[in-house]
Amino acid sequence: MDLSLYIHVPFCKRKCAYCDFYSLAGMEEQIQAYKDALCLELAAQSDAYGHPHVRTIFFGGGTPTLLSGTDLGEIMTLIRNQYDVLPECEITMEGNPGTLTAQNLAGYLAAGVNRLSIGVQSFSDDLLQAIGRIHTAAQAVEAVELARQAGFCNLNLDLMYGLPGQTPESLRESVKTAIRLNPEHLSCYSLIVEPGTPLAARLDAGEGAGLPDEDSAAEMEEDLKRRLRDAGYGRYEVSNYAKPGFECRHNIVYWECEPYLGFGPSAHSDCGGQRFYNPDDLTTYLDSAMRGQAYMMEGTGSLAERRYERMMMGLRMTRGVDTARFRQDFGTEPEAVWPGTMDEMRRFNMLVRESDRIRLTESGMDVMNHWLVRMLDEEETGDPEQK
Ligand code: SF4
Repeated sequence: MDLSLYIHVPFCKRKCAYCDFYSLAGMEEQIQAYKDALCLELAAQSDAYGHPHVRTIFFGGGTPTLLSGTDLGEIMTLIRNQYDVLPECEITMEGNPGTLTAQNLAGYLAAGVNRLSIGVQSFSDDLLQAIGRIHTAAQAVEAVELARQAGFCNLNLDLMYGLPGQTPESLRESVKTAIRLNPEHLSCYSLIVEPGTPLAARLDAGEGAGLPDEDSAAEMEEDLKRRLRDAGYGRYEVSNYAKPGFECRHNIVYWECEPYLGFGPSAHSDCGGQRFYNPDDLTTYLDSAMRGQAYMMEGTGSLAERRYERMMMGLRMTRGVDTARFRQDFGTEPEAVWPGTMDEMRRFNMLVRESDRIRLTESGMDVMNHWLVRMLDEEETGDPEQK
């Protein structure tokens, strides 16, 4: 069996104002206990799945770069002993510019990490401060330079737009700086204000700068897409751009709905037709991993849920959904499940069918959520217009 591994590292120096990922600030003294539990979990799942081949590994967080090079080396040694890590395996680590040093970067590279994803978010110090990032723009530039000096030749930079107080000019400057740094990959996410975060509370209370209006947000997105295209970055997913050959193979596993195992608190897995997840609480995770089973079953998902998910994830990619695989797994064509919506999308030039793939056009991708809601409505009621 070929699969991917996701390893959630739940530690951060400080919580960012917009963040609702499971991570704990100022709990680094728990790293050793976390590593012990993680290694038990990795070994148990390798046994359960017959020491599978591993195509991609992703250390996400949280802030994985709070682990030392030695920590990461120990985890990677265990993975290599327990799993058949394929020679071409993509091994990504997310990093916060406020935690990257020449020393830990050298350690990660020596441990086998071959792709570094740096959470820059913006090159404006005012915006970084407003969203509670621990680093400055200069530290982000330095992190890229340090990564190159260490020998990383596959870098992603994360950027955000639609931030409170952000203007199209400010985003333009950030994008220009990002392009000048010449990463192989750029992920550009529109801010989602998650309920319960400090940022949501601040916006609700009318404190500080507000969100950009709709016109500014649209201008930012258009300008971003144009600049990245002109600089040679292909948009291969709604929010992801890469130079040819540098698309993130790990994330494509999720969008293609291929099997992966997740480790660490809050990690989810979808493997062998089963879905399961780990508790999003470090203490509960440590206890359950030490007792031999960290995860809880989530069930398989109904056929209808799985085929909708295949479309929802696959249509995010510019290459779209593999309809031959869809037919093989679900015994039908997407056009047979959602005839009304698919027909309408085609008539509005939002959807294209090319032999064994079905994909959104650029304009279809811009309003993808609208079509996904219509597909759901159609499946529930037989009529895409119905709510
Ligand atoms: S560094 Fe990332 S995971 Fe940690 S609080 Fe900030 S956004 Fe969340």
